[in-house]
Amino acid sequence: MKQLILATHNNHKLQEIRQMLAGEPVEVLGLSDIGWHQEIIENGESFKDNALIKAEAIYKATGRAVLADDSGLTVEALGGAPGVYSSRYMGEETPYEIKNRAIIDLLARVPETKRGAAFVCVVALVRPGKGKRAVRKTAEGRIEGRIAYEPAGCGGFGYDPIFFLPERGCTTAELRPEEKNAISHRGRAIQAILPEILKWVSS
Ligand code: IMP
Repeated sequence: MKQLILATHNNHKLQEIRQMLAGEPVEVLGLSDIGWHQEIIENGESFKDNALIKAEAIYKATGRAVLADDSGLTVEALGGAPGVYSSRYMGEETPYEIKNRAIIDLLARVPETKRGAAFVCVVALVRPGKGKRAVRKTAEGRIEGRIAYEPAGCGGFGYDPIFFLPERGCTTAELRPEEKNAISHRGRAIQAILPEILKWVSS
């Protein structure tokens, strides 16, 4: 079975992506599995830039196939914030109970119709190709929802407790992991890049 390195230190993402690729002929390794403990500076201006920065950094160091994702929450009423700054919003170490409460408070006077939000994810696959040339592919996934009036649920991570899905009547933190994976931005991005992963597996 071929090994694919996932360029993230985020265990929740590693678990989610492992689950999504569970039936596929690839073994997903985390950065700690390959002994990589350094931070990768994500100074891109878009999810795509950052996903490529992470995948390229690990590919350059290892020469092995790497998948990276960059994702975040975009809130319409906040002009798209926190966007690429989602994990750094109000400081990396600030607990999500505080970040989530702050977003709810910022939207206190915003009516239902203007509470639109989306989770966006871009995945980048960088892998050895013919000769010494690297092959680079990216794919995007998104899920539309609204900012809840109160946090709810304890599944998922990050902003899940305030990401309300009107058609389901619950937040993404109230879904079972397999339900979230089936419809999430990350699940959709992984589905979109899957043909490229399988092309590499059979190459
Ligand atoms: P990244 O590690 O730079 O991609 O940061 C992604 C950040 O976006 C996370 O730390 C969360 O704040 C947020 N985020 C991304 N995906 C999700 C999700 O599925 N649920 C909740 N928050 C998410």
